[in-house]
Amino acid sequence: MEKKENISELREKLQEIYHLGSALQVLDWDSQVFMPPKGAAPRAATISNLSGILHEKFISKEFAALLKKAKANLDGKKMNDEESAIVRELWREYERQKKLPLAFVKEMSQACSEGHNVWIKAREKSDFKIFLPVLKKIVALKRKEAELVGFKKSPYDALLDTYEPYATSEDISMIFEDLKNFLVPFLKKIAKAKGKVDPNIIQGNFPTEQQKQFDVEVAKKIGFDFEAGRLDTSAHPFSTGFHPNDVRLTTRYRKHDLFDSFFGVIHETGHGLYNQGLSVEHFGTPLSEAISHGIHESQSRMWENNVARSKNFWKYFFPKLQSQFPEPFAKISFNDFYRAINNVRPSLIRVEADEVTYSLHIILRFEIEKELIEGSIEVEDLPKIWNAKMKEYLGIEVPNDAAGVLQDVHWSGGAIGYFPSYTLGNLYAAQFFNAAKRDLIDLEKEIAAGEFGHLREWLRQKIHIHGKMYSADGLVREVTGEPLTSQYFIDYLKEKYSGIYKL
Ligand code: ZN
Repeated sequence: MEKKENISELREKLQEIYHLGSALQVLDWDSQVFMPPKGAAPRAATISNLSGILHEKFISKEFAALLKKAKANLDGKKMNDEESAIVRELWREYERQKKLPLAFVKEMSQACSEGHNVWIKAREKSDFKIFLPVLKKIVALKRKEAELVGFKKSPYDALLDTYEPYATSEDISMIFEDLKNFLVPFLKKIAKAKGKVDPNIIQGNFPTEQQKQFDVEVAKKIGFDFEAGRLDTSAHPFSTGFHPNDVRLTTRYRKHDLFDSFFGVIHETGHGLYNQGLSVEHFGTPLSEAISHGIHESQSRMWENNVARSKNFWKYFFPKLQSQFPEPFAKISFNDFYRAINNVRPSLIRVEADEVTYSLHIILRFEIEKELIEGSIEVEDLPKIWNAKMKEYLGIEVPNDAAGVLQDVHWSGGAIGYFPSYTLGNLYAAQFFNAAKRDLIDLEKEIAAGEFGHLREWLRQKIHIHGKMYSADGLVREVTGEPLTSQYFIDYLKEKYSGIYKL
């Protein structure tokens, strides 16, 4: 009985921490969706205050004592699989947080909030030199963080671990290298292809309300539960979950391009389905938490790309789109439409990139930030290195810092080690989708008939419901029968775009 007592006490204490975490997420969501501008300063103070309380609770003597007892039982193999996973994950997090002294955490948080403000100005003026001193400070602190946390081979791994637990940059480098070796020549082939695509035919004049109606209709159809979630508007689209029964999505609308919000909503719906699919029973423990950013991203990208940019999907939805927006879609052929929404063009800005070029933007950032943390390149040299890699991978010249090295928010807020998750998401998505097609023999037909129930349930049972029971690597092996590889994503791109561009 002793061990049962132990974990149930631990779980109870943990609930307090998770409820506080949920409340913090509500405050953050509100600050991006509804908060008036003058609320920013007091909100930041409230959030920083409550975050402090949460941190203190987590590393308190009382909680540590419960956790240590549980850890001893775990090492003595006295626990079932679920309890083991809970304790394993909590211990990992506790070890990490304990290694970072409070003074260091405060210094980092100050540097990052200064970094964010300076980055906004630097980007406005398109001048990297303005950003340079504070970015140097952030990178120095991040190198220090890696030393404090500890690592086996590369200090970058200590930072990567925040987003991709258990992953190593060595494994990721190998997978990304394969992908890069395919993408660079493939992109050149597309650029020279005879089959041209006209992306402008799908532009028009689309009232916001009507766009929203269509987006919501599709999100419902693929299974997002609006009794347990909402869709709102924000400057930067995102999704968050306070509980599996309260999941929030946001988007923004562009008058002339309804696909900006449409694919954005489908993307966030993919994240939302993961959050709604987490365990209610285990809420307040790691068993009701997403495995990693990469696995989360695989859910959004599968729905956005593998499903919603496919021919089958539009066999069902194109007639609906045509009847809701006869101008311009009534006069466009299905084939021209399909090719237009899958247009490939090397471009400067990551968030506007298509499926083929997107990963090259990520590989570039991954290579740079890894070397930066390892100390083989210095912050001063970033614009030069950035621009050279853009030329080498995507074949384009960077005209200024705003359209180059200053475009992303991540580094300004200290999020170094985050970028690989986006491309890992594409790779996991392709591999999972391949396994889904193997398990659900009628999947393609179902998608063409607007039926998504089987796929959604498959994802829920295979991935969502387990929370952090498995590591990302363990999950991929469990679901697909092999470790992560870039091959499924490469095969998917080859087949799809050879058709579109008649290669
Ligand atoms: Zn995402």
